[in-house]
Amino acid sequence: MLSCVVAIVEGVEVPVAGCDYPGTLRVFNAWFPDDEACLRYLAGLRWRSGFVCSLCGGERAWRMSKGRNLRCARCRVDHSVTAGTIFADTKLPLTTWFQAAWYLTGTKHGVSALGLQRLLGLGSYESAWALLHKLRRAMVRPGRDRLAGEVEVDETAIGPSKPGRLGRGTFLDRAIVAIAVEARPRGACGRIRLACIPNCSAPILTDFVCGAVAPGVVVYTDHWQGYGGLTAAGFVHEQTSIAASGDPAHVVMPRAHRVSSLLKRWLLGTHQGAARPHQLDYYLDEFTFRFNRRSSQQRGLLFYRLLEQAMQLDHVPLAAIVGGKP
Ligand SMILES: [Zn+2]
Repeated sequence: MLSCVVAIVEGVEVPVAGCDYPGTLRVFNAWFPDDEACLRYLAGLRWRSGFVCSLCGGERAWRMSKGRNLRCARCRVDHSVTAGTIFADTKLPLTTWFQAAWYLTGTKHGVSALGLQRLLGLGSYESAWALLHKLRRAMVRPGRDRLAGEVEVDETAIGPSKPGRLGRGTFLDRAIVAIAVEARPRGACGRIRLACIPNCSAPILTDFVCGAVAPGVVVYTDHWQGYGGLTAAGFVHEQTSIAASGDPAHVVMPRAHRVSSLLKRWLLGTHQGAARPHQLDYYLDEFTFRFNRRSSQQRGLLFYRLLEQAMQLDHVPLAAIVGGKP
């Protein structure tokens, strides 16, 4: 399936609709009727230009009748298609994984664990929950580019605030999310990066900006002291005082504010506020994946990207997910 065409545009491999990924649910169902078909697809993602044996360089292999192995025709050593990926050691059929990935990427707002359990007829809520979290973990591309151009940076707190507190004082005892968003002309947003942070101190915020934004970029923030280290860290730092401007925060930092509102609405809507603070990072990964691909007309392309990234990742034991990110 994948072996048919991968177009090369200016040296970058671009997957072709209808050739590398399904465009509609009908095509999806026709492509992936059983685990055998799913495994063939994953093998295509693992060995894009055809199978090459890592031991002897042999280019021919055959599928073993049991398990998920290809056997090298030359040295007769077995190579697992899914070892080292999120599909390793799974008890669930690959068709279930594929369907979950399809629902997750095919809907505008995604799907909750309870929703997925009902859609796929899974035996337990826990299986649905673990499945979704493993796929979420694959939503962050390893080594992705940092934000460029001009970037707004701000923080927001998730969950109810205690009464009587003002400004960043309302962040106490709540999960804090740092937001970086590319500022495009006329108030438009480019790509975003989000991260859970333990507090709004200068070392933490400087670390976040260094990880999310390319060096030398213009970074807009408010006058919070936690942003004092950005010039020294190599950014062109533009501070806007909310008090001095006379505008409420959402006017001064309109894009960061919009991302914050959308994130909160999504957490409350799709997930009914079920995201626990120590697992919030995974939800942020999913939100970022969706937001940064929001203009994509090809839902099938998102499905392809998700599986492609899922094949690059190390297998994560469930205990690590339950405990949150390291
Ligand atoms: Zn070999």
